[in-house]
Amino acid sequence: MEPQRIVIKLGSSTLTQGKSDLAVEHMLEIVRVVARLHLQGHQVMVVSSGAITVGRSMLGDPILPKHMPAKQMLAAVGQSRLMELYSQLFGFYHIAVGQVLLTREDLSSRRRYLNARNTLEALIQYRVIPIINENDTVSTEEIRLGDNDNLSALVANVIEADLLILLTDQDGLFTADPRNDPAARLVSEINSAEIDAQYWQAAGGSSSNQGTGGMYTKLQAAQLARQSGVEVVIINGARPELIAQIVNGQSAGTRFSALCSKLESRKRYMLAEARNSDAAVEIDSGAVTALHSGKSLLPVGIKSISGEFQRGDIIHIRDLQHKDIALGMVNYGSADLSRLVGLQSQEIEQTLGYTYGVEVLHHNNLLFV
Ligand code: GLU
Repeated sequence: MEPQRIVIKLGSSTLTQGKSDLAVEHMLEIVRVVARLHLQGHQVMVVSSGAITVGRSMLGDPILPKHMPAKQMLAAVGQSRLMELYSQLFGFYHIAVGQVLLTREDLSSRRRYLNARNTLEALIQYRVIPIINENDTVSTEEIRLGDNDNLSALVANVIEADLLILLTDQDGLFTADPRNDPAARLVSEINSAEIDAQYWQAAGGSSSNQGTGGMYTKLQAAQLARQSGVEVVIINGARPELIAQIVNGQSAGTRFSALCSKLESRKRYMLAEARNSDAAVEIDSGAVTALHSGKSLLPVGIKSISGEFQRGDIIHIRDLQHKDIALGMVNYGSADLSRLVGLQSQEIEQTLGYTYGVEVLHHNNLLFV
């Protein structure tokens, strides 16, 4: 089976199994399944909540004011304990983990988006499992995402995941709230582009008092992810073995089909971005041939640049006849790049005093037009 890129989102209620502290034995069960997938060659990332819940428990459930700094303090205390545990549990399988704390801004501003993406790619490449959470200690009320369901969808989008698995405290999405409607049925598949109003209503607000997410934010996340070409499944976190079953193509919980391919999603994004800008680089014929044969764009192949752009922007790549041959997400802004035109890659660092890598534009971030 082809290795898949998978984001697994664990909420506080899954990690604690409804108690006030981490259910370590249950976490071990989850880690066992995730570790096996990783060892089979899949690229797995974990989005984990739990920092605030764990912090509260470690400090003996203190009575705190309801303002943000109190929550941020709990997150600061809990996050390190959480990472300590993940590190230990994955360590049993000789797998290294890396903590990645993100804010909403990191995923919306393009330059930082590229940084977050490059860091995650590097972790994946070196076979480290990223453990991702919102950077609660610096996220204020106005700018925070607040729930890790949406965070996990953004991460799945950033790293172009194949699959997002959301673990929750129910078997999946129901036709009505199963806790107070005995007629509620599990919805096994959603393939329509829109999620029925009835389901949004059944998903209601958040009900668990630990995590901030509920079924509602899971539907938001599912919708966000499937629009960027990611398949989404909501399963019961009490049954970690379902994670492996889903990856192996069996059905469980509620599955939301991807609404387009990842390539279409990327194409749409690049075309929309490029339409608003005339920023471009002109490259020589050797570089054109190199790009067509699957290589990346290096400074040596660039003849001139036009327009202003930032690292992370989508720019036009033109040949010497000014004809568009591709669009791509550029690793250097125009101010830097104007100093690099025609240079050898090893001269980048001495010219700028720093480097974002030898490629001006990585082949994976290229779209031929
Ligand atoms: N980032 C929060 C935490 O780690 C959780 C957010 C959520 O529950 O979705 O405690």
